[in-house]
Amino acid sequence: MKKHNFSAGPSILPQEVFEKASQAVLDFNGMGLSILEISHRSKEFIAVMEEARALVKKLMKLGDDYEVLFLQGGASLQFVMAPFNLMKEGGKAAYLDSGSWAAAAIKEGKKFGTVDVVGSSKEEKYSFIPKDYTVGTEYDFFHCTSNNTIYGTQMKDFPKTEVPIVCDMSSDIFSREIDFSQFGIIYAGAQKNMGPSGATLVVVKKDILGKTGRNIPSYLDYSLHISKDSMFNTPPVFAVYCSLLTLQWIENNGGISAAEARNNAKAKLLYDEIDSNPLFECFSVPEDRSTMNVSFYLTDESKKEAFDAAWKAAGISGLNGHRSLGGYRASIYNAMPIESVQVLVDVMKSL
Ligand SMILES: *Cc1c(COP(=O)(O)O)cnc(C)c1O
Repeated sequence: MKKHNFSAGPSILPQEVFEKASQAVLDFNGMGLSILEISHRSKEFIAVMEEARALVKKLMKLGDDYEVLFLQGGASLQFVMAPFNLMKEGGKAAYLDSGSWAAAAIKEGKKFGTVDVVGSSKEEKYSFIPKDYTVGTEYDFFHCTSNNTIYGTQMKDFPKTEVPIVCDMSSDIFSREIDFSQFGIIYAGAQKNMGPSGATLVVVKKDILGKTGRNIPSYLDYSLHISKDSMFNTPPVFAVYCSLLTLQWIENNGGISAAEARNNAKAKLLYDEIDSNPLFECFSVPEDRSTMNVSFYLTDESKKEAFDAAWKAAGISGLNGHRSLGGYRASIYNAMPIESVQVLVDVMKSL
């Protein structure tokens, strides 16, 4: 029986993507070859890469001043590449410390220059998004995390600043309408909302590059990847293909605005139950709640055994919270059907 998969990542993808990807492993586009055994320089794969790159821009409503790359190394390598490409020697960057992934990005940023943490909710266990800060023109860039996968918080607004905004959107990419043209760099590991692990989406505004005077190693240089149409070396062929299938699924189901409406309905269903059921409580403050990762806990630990048995019996998988926070985390990414959220809510009601 197919489980209701609430895993935080790698995570659920549309069933249609699993089916089409399986078929392509056996015979890709009637070539008599598997997607796993064709050259990345074949015209068939170049078409996949080009369609994926174009579809990202189309869904995000971005123009030719942006380039789309599919790289390897995960979001974690972007913690390194972004400052390497944007921070001048002796330069300064502003970072928002809204969670563990933000803190991991800060750690890498410090290896390239001065990092000013302009806001942090660390002392309050990252239960909210820091606000009331400004980002002045003295910085080379501002870095933030749009959705905090572990704590279940999400930035609803982004600061107005003249410096490039670098945003880690790993866990809420394509989940809601945002003015994507306010960002200098958007990056996301594929494995939360887009595809299998192995590919990392990077969207770059071209005119922010080439200003640091640094000698950047080839693989870490965005400009080089752009000049090679995201084919500098062997790309993660299968992960890019699965990402394309997900992008097509988003487009065929009404684009980002329709995905947002579905996500809001799922999140409301689950948060309404948490708010009305005295046995459950959220880790995060109401105004910053994420529509992707719902982190919550039992108010009565004596119910733990019964709750765990009940959700497992209902065919639910991946509900345990992150090891650093405990409790539970329901990841309700784009591909999660509302019916699966209803199954969880029914279990919560039954307790
Ligand atoms: C999962 C996650 C990461 C880490 O991604 P990797 O691809 O494993 O490096 C970084 N940031 C956020 C917001 C995440 O959810």
